[in-house]
Amino acid sequence: MKCIYLDHSATTPVDPEVVTAMNPFFSVHFGNPSSLYSIAETSRDAMEASRETIASFIHASPREIIFTSGGTESDNQAIFSVARSQKNKGSHLITSSIEHHAVLHAFQQLEKEGFTVTYLPVDSDGIVPSSALEKALTPTTTLVSIMHANNEVGTIQDIQNLSRITHSVGALFHTDAVQAIGKVPIDVEAMHIDYLSSSAHKLYGPKGIGFLYAKKGIPLTSYLYGGGQERKKRPGTENVPSIVGYGKAVELAQKRFQADHTYLQTLASFLIEGIQNTINDVVFTGHPTQRTPGHVSCCFKHIEGESILLMLDSHGICVSSGSACTSGNLDASHVLLAMGLDSATAQGSIRFTMGRNNTIEDMKAVLNVLPGIVEKLRKMSPLC
Ligand code: PLP
Repeated sequence: MKCIYLDHSATTPVDPEVVTAMNPFFSVHFGNPSSLYSIAETSRDAMEASRETIASFIHASPREIIFTSGGTESDNQAIFSVARSQKNKGSHLITSSIEHHAVLHAFQQLEKEGFTVTYLPVDSDGIVPSSALEKALTPTTTLVSIMHANNEVGTIQDIQNLSRITHSVGALFHTDAVQAIGKVPIDVEAMHIDYLSSSAHKLYGPKGIGFLYAKKGIPLTSYLYGGGQERKKRPGTENVPSIVGYGKAVELAQKRFQADHTYLQTLASFLIEGIQNTINDVVFTGHPTQRTPGHVSCCFKHIEGESILLMLDSHGICVSSGSACTSGNLDASHVLLAMGLDSATAQGSIRFTMGRNNTIEDMKAVLNVLPGIVEKLRKMSPLC
């Protein structure tokens, strides 16, 4: 059975050109970039070339890019760095209620350490109202962390405006751009971003590699202890093959930016229209236009998203659901609840995230089976 992969916000396949770029750095150019002989120089040069490609893509300077193990580590390093190092200035922090757990759980840990955290609300499209941020800021606020694009509903925030408001009280601004990079234009300078987190495996790069952008001159501490790599901000021998792969993935994203954007929007529009025409009682989630390309998320009323997911899987179609099964119960997504959906509706959520390799035929294949699956599940549902 052919696999139709529609879960690119979870992870993407590594682009063959990325694999080709990475390959020599496993066993030919395998030198440790910190060593002094020439094979190490090849590793070092390749790593620095990748840093330059990435920095230029987001309008940063190469010295402002620190390679990490991915989005989770970058989020944690930015948040803990600012909160703990600025505690003498204040212990109030702000984030949004729809963040990824890599951010939310970091803030929850800081609450245990005595910090006060404000979790900003969002509107029904998943937008953080700027008025809510203005109201929440105090002279003791040291950090605001608001994600660029949401992983569950795709909504894109007005980062430039939120960072401007944050700076009006002298606080620092971090954004988790894991779902945005490669899909939304990012200019850290024009957008006045202080810290930005990213991960390669969401844009056809390898897993386990990411970067943290930290603007020159602002606080950044390492919570690992070891060697002097990454300008003493992230000790540990660098993952050279993956860093090279990340650079290649960014180079491809830059080249294909407009074409990918237009193509993914076409696939998403086709799928949305098909669902609207064939299935009733569906609530589409996320902002109708300020949304990452190729992202379709919706709730099928009266049934559970996980059941739909499993039935689609039996047809070779991979999607994700917003609800997670914990101890036999379905927990509705915190993102959908924050957007004002009731728990029963939120439990019927499904996310389709398309990628470069998907086709209109893939969308037709989904539309061939989805109405029947929903009808069958609704017939069995006690909620109907
Ligand atoms: N932040 C967001 C918005 C994400 O979607 C993810 C991954 O799904 C992460 C952070 C974590 O990234 P990583 O898997 O690279 O640790």
